[in-house]
Amino acid sequence: MNNFGYKQAEDTREAISLIEHNETAKFVAGGTNLIDLWKYNIANPSQLIDINHLAELSEIKTLEHGGLRLGAGVKNADTAYHPVVEHQYPLLSKAILAGASAQIRNMASNGGNLLQRTRCYYFYDAEVPCNKRIPGSGCPAKDGYNRIHAILGTSEHCIAVFPSDMCVALAALDAVVNITGPTGNRSIAFADFHRLPDNRPDLDNNLKKDELITSIDLPEKGFAANYAYLKLRDRHSYAFALVSVATALELKGNTIEDVKIALGGVAHKPWRSTEAEEFLKGKAANAENFSIAADLILQGAKGFGYNEFKIKLAKKAIIRNGLMALNPESQLPGAQPSA
Ligand SMILES: Cc1cc2nc3c(=O)[nH]c(=O)nc-3n(C[C@H](O)[C@H](O)[C@H](O)COP(=O)(O)OP(=O)(O)OC[C@H]3O[C@@H](n4cnc5c(N)ncnc54)[C@H](O)[C@@H]3O)c2cc1C
Repeated sequence: MNNFGYKQAEDTREAISLIEHNETAKFVAGGTNLIDLWKYNIANPSQLIDINHLAELSEIKTLEHGGLRLGAGVKNADTAYHPVVEHQYPLLSKAILAGASAQIRNMASNGGNLLQRTRCYYFYDAEVPCNKRIPGSGCPAKDGYNRIHAILGTSEHCIAVFPSDMCVALAALDAVVNITGPTGNRSIAFADFHRLPDNRPDLDNNLKKDELITSIDLPEKGFAANYAYLKLRDRHSYAFALVSVATALELKGNTIEDVKIALGGVAHKPWRSTEAEEFLKGKAANAENFSIAADLILQGAKGFGYNEFKIKLAKKAIIRNGLMALNPESQLPGAQPSA
C-alpha cells in the first residue's frame, strides 16, 4: 500500500503551483491510463492533482479566426459527438470512436489521450528491463515478442509504439497543442508534440513535467468532404491498432489539391510523410498513386521479426483508406470498403 495525497485543483494556476513544487505529483483527468499504470507499479505518484474541475479546460468553442478549440478536460465521447466536430471534423470523430470502448471514452479526456503511454508488453512488466521505464536497462522487445511494435522511426533503445487513435486524426488535421506552465503559455504544432525514441525513449513527448495541456486547436479546414480512418486490429472492439491510417483529401474532380495522411500503430508518434503528401498533390486520386505514396511513407520501414507483417499491412491500409476517402460513406458499418 502506497500512501498518496489528493487535491482537487480550483484553477490552472493552482494546478501548476501544486505540480511545480512536487517532483512526484501527477495530474489526473479520467484516470483510465494513470490508474492502470499505478496498478502495474509503473507509476507511483505521491500526490494526485485532480484537474477535472478546471473551467478553462472544459469547453469546446469555435475560434475567432476559424477553427475549433477542444478543451483538454473534455471527454473523448463528448468531443466525438460534438455537432461541430461531427460536421466539420468527421475524421476526428471517426478516429476517437474507433478507440477503446464507450465506457472508457466517457471517462477519457482529450489531454489524457495525448499523454497515454505505450502498450508495449515489456513496458508494463515491472519485472523486466525497459529503457522507457528505466533508462539504460535495455529493450527486450527488439528480440522478443514484438508483434505490436514499431516499424518506423525506431532506435536501438526502443521500438514501442504510441497507441492513440485520436492523435492520428489530430496529426493529419495539423492540430496545435496549447500548454500552460510556471513560465507562461506556449503552443506546440502537433507534429512536434510527440517524440521519436532516439536515445531518450523515457520521454514520450515534449511536454515538461510541470506543464498542463489546456486545449487543442483545430485549423478551420476540416476535410469534411473526403476523409477516412481505418483501424486494423486483432478484435473489432477494445483493441489497439496494429496499423491505422487517417486520410484527409481536398479534391478538384478526381485531382488531389491537398492531402494529409497520418499512420498510427507503426511508430513512437503518429507518422506523417511530407514527401508522400507532396507527391500526391496534383495527381489523380487512384490506387496507383496511393500505392506510390505508400512506398514513400514506408521508406526505411523495418520489422523485428513478429511485426514484419505490418509493413505489407500498412501499405495495403494506406491504399485502401485513400480510396475510402473518395467516398466517406463507404466507412459506415456494414459498407464494403472500395478496395
Ligand atoms: C482497456 C483500454 C482500451 C483502450 N483502447 C484504446 C484505443 O483503442 N485507442 C486509444 O486511442 N486509446 C485507447 N485507450 C486509452 C485511453 O484512450 C486513454 O487511457 C485515455 O485517453 C487517457 O485519458 P485520461 O483522461 O483517462 O488520462 P489519465 O489516465 O487521467 O492521465 C494520463 C496521463 O496524462 C496526464 N494528464 C492528463 N490530462 C492532462 C493535462 N490536461 N495536462 C497534462 N497532463 C495531463 C496524467 O498526469 C497522466 O500522466 C484504452 C484504454 C484502456 C484502459
